[in-house]
Amino acid sequence: MSQFWSPFVKDLVPYVPGEQPKMTRLVKLNTNENPYGPSPKAIAAMQAQLNDDLRLYPDPNSDRLKQAIADYYGVQTSQVFVGNGSDEVLAHAFHGLFQHGKPLLYPDITYSFYPVYCGLYGIESGPVALDENFRIRVEDYARENGGIIFPNPNAPTGCLLPLAAIEQLLQQNTETVVLVDEAYIDFGGETAIALVNKYPNLLVTQTLSKSRSLAGLRVGLAVGHPDLIEALERVKNSFNSYPLDRMAIAGAAAAFEDRDYFNETCQKVISDREWVAAELTALGFDVLPSAANFVFARHAQKDAATIAAALREQGIIVRHFKTERIAQFLRITIGTPEQNSELIDALKAL
Ligand code: PMP
Repeated sequence: MSQFWSPFVKDLVPYVPGEQPKMTRLVKLNTNENPYGPSPKAIAAMQAQLNDDLRLYPDPNSDRLKQAIADYYGVQTSQVFVGNGSDEVLAHAFHGLFQHGKPLLYPDITYSFYPVYCGLYGIESGPVALDENFRIRVEDYARENGGIIFPNPNAPTGCLLPLAAIEQLLQQNTETVVLVDEAYIDFGGETAIALVNKYPNLLVTQTLSKSRSLAGLRVGLAVGHPDLIEALERVKNSFNSYPLDRMAIAGAAAAFEDRDYFNETCQKVISDREWVAAELTALGFDVLPSAANFVFARHAQKDAATIAAALREQGIIVRHFKTERIAQFLRITIGTPEQNSELIDALKAL
């Protein structure tokens, strides 16, 4: 801290990103990246951008990408917003859509960026406990709020809230924005984008970092009523009118268009997840049902921090959170079949 810091920055508790180690010979199962790499068509589209046109600013509206997303989901481009990673899209939603003076409701055990954005934008936090099975109970959200946000599937639990439950929540909450953060939806969930034309207060965010394997490109999106999108555009244009560069627009659009590669790699991750979950269960872990590209598991006897440290010594990194209720869990990203086997072998040896 320094005398030059504003009082606002002094009080800010920043988000701590998952570790991105510099060592490369690691089995990296800690930040839910996709082991299969982006679509070759997306890579070719980005390579085609490496020319003299880079001296020019990109399209501030990313129309090419919005069109690809609109075509994919069968919505209008006026219902689509894109940004520099879904973290940025979420930041603009916190800034532009959630009300002040009433608590923003979100699950207690969720993506830890939500309380950070509350702090950043002066929004009251309203954590709502999960039930004893780590599930979101929709009835608990039927109270006064400045907005509601939750990931579906939830992170870091991986538990999915069915679309019917989301619709119930939307029916009981019509006065404020309901944001469904679908960072992991493509690994077995059903997208709430199907409901945006029915509920003008529903905003759905997604990322290209997970199912489209472009975490390094930083592209996220939101779909909702054009009025919600307009609020996000206003915030964006007051912050950085060119959030997506030429390569990001071209690569992300091509990734949306390459449906075969997307379907094939998602299916592989899903079937590998079922294998990992079964192996972990056989080793004495309690594995929460996951609809994401990771599993959340605790061992009946062994301490989670000890297991994580022992795995690390063997070059395998998984995520361990210190939050009390989940301190005995490990969040393990699904890797390639070889990486998954290495993990299971290492656990057997412990
Ligand atoms: N939402 C959730 C629930 C996440 O786990 C993540 C990834 N850490 C994000 C949003 C942000 O993803 P990105 O900024 O890479 O799009």
